[in-house]
Amino acid sequence: MTDQAFDTLQIHAGAEPDPATGARQVPIYQTTSYVFKDADHAARLFGLQEVGYIYSRLTNPTVSALAARVAALEGGVGAVCCSSGHAAQIMALFPLMGPGLNIVASTRLYGGTITQFSQTIKRFGWSCTFVDFDDLAALEAAVDDNTRAIFCESISNPGGYITDLPAVAAVANKVGLPLIVDNTLASPYLCRPIEHGATLVVHSATKYLTGNGTVTGGVIVDSGKFDWSASGKFPSLSAPEPAYHGLKFHEALGPMAFTFHSIAVGLRDLGMTMNPQGAHYTLMGIETLSLRMDKHVANAKAVAEWLAKDPRIDFVTWAGLPSSPWHERAERLCPKGAGALFTVAVKGGYEACVKLVNNLKLFSHVANLGDARSLIIHSASTTHRQLTEEQQIKAGAAPNVVRLSIGIENAADLIADLDQALAAATA
Ligand SMILES: *Cc1c(COP(=O)(O)O)cnc(C)c1O
Repeated sequence: MTDQAFDTLQIHAGAEPDPATGARQVPIYQTTSYVFKDADHAARLFGLQEVGYIYSRLTNPTVSALAARVAALEGGVGAVCCSSGHAAQIMALFPLMGPGLNIVASTRLYGGTITQFSQTIKRFGWSCTFVDFDDLAALEAAVDDNTRAIFCESISNPGGYITDLPAVAAVANKVGLPLIVDNTLASPYLCRPIEHGATLVVHSATKYLTGNGTVTGGVIVDSGKFDWSASGKFPSLSAPEPAYHGLKFHEALGPMAFTFHSIAVGLRDLGMTMNPQGAHYTLMGIETLSLRMDKHVANAKAVAEWLAKDPRIDFVTWAGLPSSPWHERAERLCPKGAGALFTVAVKGGYEACVKLVNNLKLFSHVANLGDARSLIIHSASTTHRQLTEEQQIKAGAAPNVVRLSIGIENAADLIADLDQALAAATA
């Protein structure tokens, strides 16, 4: 199946005709539970001796179809769907972490992720050290005996910065830790982090995977390549798991250890489950992922090139521009395009940014990205508001920049809207 091309897999992977009815499209299995054939069948399912459906907090056929499809598109061995991108991040860390342990993450992350990692995970006794991932020596130096994962975004929010994944993966490999890559902004169509050394890939399915601003969802894909037993640092996966009858997940399930643990323990006890209706919308979205991403990228190029020449603009961060410091990485790691999210520094600073946002008509002012519609947000006063100005600048969300998420409308119409709003903002 995975020998097929991306645009075939995005329609067919994970979606056989429904075994019960022959329905060609994946049905929405709006059910909580599944009748066991007999008591022995039930016992075998609970013992993980047989794979099947028990209860929809754990697995559901519609949600499983989506997991299989995203795993195929990312080139992983298994995937788990979650209730949101943030849930996927916690679920990705959950089997690896414990009180007193830490992760090392890039400074260039989605604002909500910086808050999750710098504040909220402390309540679990976990912590995070943030490092500039362009400084590989600093990245390696930040790893200590209690580090259990390295975390970054492939294309990062909000500036469209491109992480040098092979270089970061080499460090992760050297220190023997899993590399977790948030691939939300690229989607597997533009970048496949597992091919560049990622252990786990996380997604906010809320964004490009669904593609139309209808669903909140997340996915974790496992490469199946990490040896969870080698270092003794991941006892949930390598040692008898007390929360699951003492099962040794890695020994029993091999490359599927992480995926099974995430379902049997993670979803069971954290309950961050995706609902079947949401999975259905995301499956529908993914059917057109390659078509949409090509159009997102073409529009981003047209808008970024126009803005970069405009005297009212200080700079544009889209990595597809030859002037971008990340241009070489974009060509190497995202050859089909550098995504469609970037920031624009407006002459006139904070005030001009606010006026620009207020005067746009076609662009919507919302805290979302990866929609068919073009979106804008002034990060410093919204998504990155909880951060200090220094953190804002490090995250690429300085007060003088707005973030654009370029949709799939007509590029000339988007440029006309920006032109009139810039005129009003800088008058
Ligand atoms: C939106 C987003 C998240 C969080 O996802 P939710 O679905 O909103 O929980 C994480 N990472 C990135 C890069 C995002 O854009």
